[in-house]
Amino acid sequence: MRSTTRRRRHFALVGILAGAMLLTTVPSSAAGTGAGGPGLGDPYFPDDGNSGYDVADYDVRVAYDPDHPDHLTGDTTVTATATARLDRFHLDLEGFEVDSVTIDGTPARSFSRSGAHELLITPARRIAKGAKFAVRVRYSGKPVGKSWHRLPDGAANVTGEPHSATAWYPANDHPSDKATLRLTATVPEAWTVIGNGRPGRTTSSGHGQKTYRWYEDKPLATYVSTIAIDKFTVHTSKLADGTPVVNAYSPGTVIDPQAEALLPEIIDFLASKFGPYPFSSAGFIVVNGDPAAPRGGAALETQSRPTYIGGAVFDSSLVHEYTHQWFGNSVSFTDWRDGCLAECVAQYANQLWDEKSGADLDTGFYPGMIEQSRQDPDFWSVKLYDPGAGRELHSALYFKGSMMMHALRRTIGDAAFFGTLRQWQREHRYGNASWPQFEALAKKVSARPDLSAFFDAWVHGTTVPEDKYLYPGSLGALAPANSR
Ligand SMILES: [Zn+2]
Repeated sequence: MRSTTRRRRHFALVGILAGAMLLTTVPSSAAGTGAGGPGLGDPYFPDDGNSGYDVADYDVRVAYDPDHPDHLTGDTTVTATATARLDRFHLDLEGFEVDSVTIDGTPARSFSRSGAHELLITPARRIAKGAKFAVRVRYSGKPVGKSWHRLPDGAANVTGEPHSATAWYPANDHPSDKATLRLTATVPEAWTVIGNGRPGRTTSSGHGQKTYRWYEDKPLATYVSTIAIDKFTVHTSKLADGTPVVNAYSPGTVIDPQAEALLPEIIDFLASKFGPYPFSSAGFIVVNGDPAAPRGGAALETQSRPTYIGGAVFDSSLVHEYTHQWFGNSVSFTDWRDGCLAECVAQYANQLWDEKSGADLDTGFYPGMIEQSRQDPDFWSVKLYDPGAGRELHSALYFKGSMMMHALRRTIGDAAFFGTLRQWQREHRYGNASWPQFEALAKKVSARPDLSAFFDAWVHGTTVPEDKYLYPGSLGALAPANSR
C-alpha cells in the first residue's frame, strides 16, 4: 500500500539528493562562450557544455576491475558536427590522465586541461564549419567525479543530476546537446555491466574478462547516461510489443517481482496519457547506496532504465521515474531553468496513477497539499520556472509543481490539459524545449491566451496564488467561503 506520507518523504529525499549531487563548477580562466569556447552559456552552469559543435554519438569503451577500483581505462570516440569554424574546442572530463587525442585519426596538435573539467583540444588542421568529425580520447586513472559512486566490494555506479557523464567519459556536458550512446565495457568474469538502452552481445576474452555492450539508439542528455558494475542478478523479459526489459539487482538489494510485474502496466498507463513510450528498451537498476555518500532511498531517471539507489524500488517512484522517460528524457530541457518540465509533471503523474485506482484528487491530494503549504512558510517562495542557480531541482518543483499541474488541468479541462501534454511530446520528441514554449502550447491548445495570468501566479510568482487561480473549476468547493 502506498501512503501519501511515504511518497512525500521519498520525494523530499529525491529533492535533497539532487541538491547534494550538485557539483560546483569553477569558472575556467579560458575564453568565454564564443565558438570553440568552454561553456554553452547556461544561466546556472555557464561552464557546462562547450560551444562550436553538436555531438551525434558517443562510442564509450571502458575497462574496469573492481579489485583495483582506483583505475579505469577509457577510449571514447565523440562524433560531432562543427557549428562554427574550429581552431580549437573543449570537451568536459573530470580527472583521469589523458593519454592521447586524435581527430579523424590524426593526432591533435595539442591538448591541455584546465578548470574543474575542461579538456582543450587543438586539432592539427582547422575544422570547417559544417564538417563532421570524430574525436578519439584515450584516458586512464582514478575516477574522481562525485557522480562515480563506489559501492560495496568494488562495485560502481554513475548517477548524478545535473552532472554525471564527465565522471567517466569526455562529453559535451549539457542537456541541450543530446546524442546516442554506445557502451562497450570490459570487466572480470564474475562481474556484470548494465547501461542505457538495448543489450548487445556479451563476449568472453578467454583471459578471465568479459565484455558487455549496450546501445541507446535514441538521443540522450548526458546526465541521464549511466554505467553500473556489480555482481547483478539480472531478470529479462519483454513488453507486449517486444521491447526488451532488463531489470538488475545488486547483491543484497530487494528483488521485487511485484515492481517487475507492474512496470508494463505503468508504461501502458503513461503511454495512454502522454503518447507512445519513446524508447526501445526498458527496465530498472537497483544498487546499494554509496557508503561515502549516504542518501537514503533515491532514484534517477537514467534513460530507458531508471536507477534506484539504496536497495529498493518504490512503486510510486516507478511512475515518477518512468514519466521522466517522456518528460525530461525524450523531451529534454533547453537549459537548467526548465526543471519544472520534468519534475512538475513526474510528481503529478503519481496523482494520475492514484486517480486510476479511484482517488479523488480534488478531495484528497489537493487539500492535502494546501495543508502542507500552510505548515511550510517557504512553500510558495520558489518560482517554478527559473528558480535560481542552486535551486534548479528545489522541492518546490515537486510539491508546488504538482499542485500547479492539477490547477492547470482544472482551469483548462481534461481535453486541453492532456492534449497539451501529448502535443508537447509529438512536437519535441527526442529534442529539447523550454518552459516558455510549454506555456505557449497550453495557451494554443486550450485557446486561452489569458492563461498568462495563471502562469504568472503559479509559475513566476513567489506568493500564494489568488483564490481564483488556486481554486479553479471544481476546486472552487475548497475555497474559503468568503472568496466563493
Ligand atoms: Zn524526478
